[in-house]
Amino acid sequence: MSDKNSIIPYSRQSISNEDIQAVIDVLKSDFLTQGPVVPLFEKKVAEYCSIPYAVAASNATACLHMACHALGVGPSDVVWTSPNTFVASANCALYCGAKVDFVDIDPKTYNLCPNKLEEKLRNTKDLPKVVIPVHFSGQSCDMAAIHALSQKYGFKIIEDASHCIGGSYRGKKIGNCDYSDITVFSFHPVKIITTGEGGICMTKEAFLAEKLNHFRTHGITRDKKFMEGKSEGSWYYQQIGLGYNYRITDMQCALGLSQLNRLDDFIDRRREKAVYYNQAFGRNALPFAIPYENIPGESAWHLYVIRLDPKKITKDRKDVFDALKKNGIGVNVHYIPVHLQPFYKKFGFRRGDFPVAEAYYENALSLPLFPNLKQKQQDYVIERLETVLNEQL
Ligand SMILES: *Cc1c(COP(=O)(O)O)cnc(C)c1O
Repeated sequence: MSDKNSIIPYSRQSISNEDIQAVIDVLKSDFLTQGPVVPLFEKKVAEYCSIPYAVAASNATACLHMACHALGVGPSDVVWTSPNTFVASANCALYCGAKVDFVDIDPKTYNLCPNKLEEKLRNTKDLPKVVIPVHFSGQSCDMAAIHALSQKYGFKIIEDASHCIGGSYRGKKIGNCDYSDITVFSFHPVKIITTGEGGICMTKEAFLAEKLNHFRTHGITRDKKFMEGKSEGSWYYQQIGLGYNYRITDMQCALGLSQLNRLDDFIDRRREKAVYYNQAFGRNALPFAIPYENIPGESAWHLYVIRLDPKKITKDRKDVFDALKKNGIGVNVHYIPVHLQPFYKKFGFRRGDFPVAEAYYENALSLPLFPNLKQKQQDYVIERLETVLNEQL
């Protein structure tokens, strides 16, 4: 188990024979892209989240760009997000010519902190057009609080739910948009279900779904309702804005549809394994914090993140990381604070701007967690981690 060839990854897709057959069926059909499977997949994801509209695209990064555009983000605007995220949550605002700023995280959930958001809103002259809370590791942000602030201060909300299709909040599936304008899921293979590359925007609003649709395909429409003047025939289309080619294919959506059948099972298995870690780590007083759950809802358990306590160990995170890697355990670190990336530092951000996210990053470690992680592998991770932490340098 410890040899390099059988490294236990931090995450991994689960592909069944049914998944494979579903993709083959599309390959043998008339359409590889722009056929019937894309809208069917959109319909099924929308039903799953009990919401009228879903617009699938080539990846979640494209979806975040589409969402910012649909909400009218432009060069005079500023968008706020969490520093504890993948760069795409911030880049989407820059694609629209807007500025980006960050709101520090809660020290326990590692999600965007609503109190810090309120404080920042109270003290700024440059109110955000859009705030993008990121449901870190699969656990929802405090959306009721963030939504209440959006009413008071007049900003829109895009939930970056890349980690948490299948998770829930206040009795409803995440993606239901009760507390946001648009929610985005990712279908990258390390996420909960996969289409290879892929993502989807969820919304309750028909006009937003239309904007997302046009932007995904060059700004083109074939619907007379949106055209200037008359249609010139059934071949006719009009470009009514500037968009991109952000389409997803029927092959990918066939995989997604098939995966959707097992989504709830994936979540159950992720949760079981998270509980197994919690129980194993709870037995011994270990020098790290386990994931903290405090929301009225269920995490989708995309990540199992431990936070080492530097006061209780002689090793630093890098030592622990390297030792586990050497033992064939594919640990990872989520996330390097976005504002500390060289590209973002050019906008004037510096170390110390978001101290909670920075302190969290120094000691964070993501352990392997995915539906097909075997108990034997998990026991090995637990045993190795405890051994590495107990060994002196
Ligand atoms: C994975 C991820 C993205 C980007 O998703 P892609 O589908 O790879 O474009 C955006 N935000 C977060 C928080 C992610 O984890």
